[in-house]
Amino acid sequence: MPWEVVIGLEVHVQLATQSKLFCACSTQFGAPPNSNVCAVCSGQPGVLPVLNEQAIVLALKLALATGGTIRRRSRFARKNYFYPDLPKGYQISQYDEPLAEHGAVEIWHEGQLRSVRLTRIHLEEDAGKNIHLATGAASLVDLNRAGVPLIEVVSEPDLRAPAEAAEYMRTLRGIVRALGICDGNLEQGSLRCDANISLRPWGQQALGTKVEIKNINSFRFVQKALEYEIERQSELLARGQAIQQETRQWSAEVGRTEAMRSKEEAHDYRYFPEPDLPPVEIDERLIESLRVALPELPLQRRQRLMEEGGLSDYDATELTRETELTDYYHLAVAAGGSPKRVANWMLTELLSRVDDARDVARAPVAPAGMAELLGLVESGKVSGKLAKDIWAKMWTSGGSALKIATDGDLFQQSDSAALEQAVRAVVEAHADRVAAYRAGKTKLMGWFVGQVMQATEGKANPKLVNTLLQQLLDG
Ligand SMILES: [Zn+2]
Repeated sequence: MPWEVVIGLEVHVQLATQSKLFCACSTQFGAPPNSNVCAVCSGQPGVLPVLNEQAIVLALKLALATGGTIRRRSRFARKNYFYPDLPKGYQISQYDEPLAEHGAVEIWHEGQLRSVRLTRIHLEEDAGKNIHLATGAASLVDLNRAGVPLIEVVSEPDLRAPAEAAEYMRTLRGIVRALGICDGNLEQGSLRCDANISLRPWGQQALGTKVEIKNINSFRFVQKALEYEIERQSELLARGQAIQQETRQWSAEVGRTEAMRSKEEAHDYRYFPEPDLPPVEIDERLIESLRVALPELPLQRRQRLMEEGGLSDYDATELTRETELTDYYHLAVAAGGSPKRVANWMLTELLSRVDDARDVARAPVAPAGMAELLGLVESGKVSGKLAKDIWAKMWTSGGSALKIATDGDLFQQSDSAALEQAVRAVVEAHADRVAAYRAGKTKLMGWFVGQVMQATEGKANPKLVNTLLQQLLDG
């Protein structure tokens, strides 16, 4: 493709406060419509917003974790536009004096570390939600979400591919969850993004005309929407047509982006300073106390897993995507599991049984249980195949690996006298194959091993079976 793709993301992160940004209403998700609403967040005249300081603290954590510069003094502004779910007729946001600027998010993508610069992090309140009845008879407004605190994380146009944009969003989610400032629940809209994309000829410095894709709430959709846009824009450019600067939305049903509004009808927000709120003054001591209390972030955890556990890039990256996964790993290793075995078992047997890695914290088998099972495999008491059966039982009916193995007589047979009997029986029952093997068809070894395994219900130690068969057949 003759075009270079340039992508920047604006990610809205819902902060995990108990109450809204400017009033005491609850932020609880899923409450009955309009049950978390008061005079302030429903936009009644004559009321005054009062800033929730907890939201500032949570936002500062992300600014510090990404190396941003925190403004000692920031200010709220009114962003004026009319929309049914915005009863005040304006949104309180930050404009020319945001909470923090600069900093960067490091992403690990396709074996490379990339730094995506941030333009700014600012605070704003969420709007309500319009519900259009399927009958078309009416549209309803739910203001539970109005006034819920958000931060907007605006990146520089440093991303170069749709998959990279998705990885950036995924990484950002890992960071906000590690910081405990957002639950990262995409289905509930706790994290959603607007993506800006433009194309330009390779080597050109100036940016091409950008298109904004609004309100995407999944990693997969952000990738698909951008892939679609690259196709659409390259085709237009190839035909010599200009790209129209506009806002589009991703339609998952039809798998394409659709025009929402063009630049001509774009909003003129007429920002002006919010007169009802004093400027936000940030104390240096607060910044320092938050800085020293920052937890280990996913990228640092990843590094530690590679250095201490000897894990591969891939394993370490996957295990540090979600805090719950990393915690489970550390607990299993602390309980005696070998790092590589634990990592491998988690990424295959554990993750195949949960829909979402975040559920790992509530998995029916605790980390110590997994460590016990892997210990039995490690010492040769249980075969890898039977370990999977034991794991399945632990998962569905509980109980320790040792008990399940004992009750079900699932231990690996490493007693050579007993195994020799089984091996001998198989060899004696198949004289024709023995002859074929001795005549040079050595590939039959696998078949013999299979027979012995079957005869012992998978309990024979395969290594020992191999040795015994070799002795008998070659001898
Ligand atoms: Zn309220």
